[in-house]
Amino acid sequence: MVKGSNLAAILGGLLFQASRGAAASCCSQLNTQLGGKVHLPESRGYNVSMEGFWTLQAIYETPTCVLVPESAEDVAAAVKTLVGGNCKFSIKGGGHTPFPGAASISDGVQIDMTSIKSVSVDKEKTVASVGAGARWLTVYRYLES
Ligand SMILES: Cc1cc2nc3c(=O)[nH]c(=O)nc-3n(C[C@H](O)[C@H](O)[C@H](O)COP(=O)(O)OP(=O)(O)OC[C@H]3O[C@@H](n4cnc5c(N)ncnc54)[C@H](O)[C@@H]3O)c2cc1C
Repeated sequence: MVKGSNLAAILGGLLFQASRGAAASCCSQLNTQLGGKVHLPESRGYNVSMEGFWTLQAIYETPTCVLVPESAEDVAAAVKTLVGGNCKFSIKGGGHTPFPGAASISDGVQIDMTSIKSVSVDKEKTVASVGAGARWLTVYRYLES
């Protein structure tokens, strides 16, 4: 007979395996859809994203892959795949939040916004549009120019 605590451990293990499998499957699908924008562990793109956190603690979480979208269309396509595949994901903007799991994730996809960093102002100069990966220094310089 399986005791309550053992059963919980077995179920926890099965859920862990399932989320790992789902993440790997989502990474594979994203790679087919978005090619070179998906980076696997130990690749240069993956390491650049992981080294871009403000604290070392953030990298206690190790994503199955890192997606670096270049447009809103890339993000929309990725979200469809992630939702369809029931995959966990994190969003990394500047990566400044100091605790693990804020913008990083294990057994999931880390969406790194650093390539979406355009800044523009409308003709009437009443609305500024700022990319999710823009840094304030770039934004301020643009707005002051
Ligand atoms: C030393 C230090 C000083 C700080 N000082 C200040 C301060 O003076 N004022 C202040 O307000 N804050 C301050 N912060 C807090 C920090 O700047 C905030 O946590 C801020 O949200 C970090 O922005 P980020 O782009 O780096 O976000 P990340 O760390 O990349 O992400 C923060 C959260 O937002 C989510 N997220 C990121 N991008 C998106 C997106 N495009 N869409 C949806 N969700 C997204 C992430 O998933 C995560 O949950 C400080 C932090 C540190 C470590």
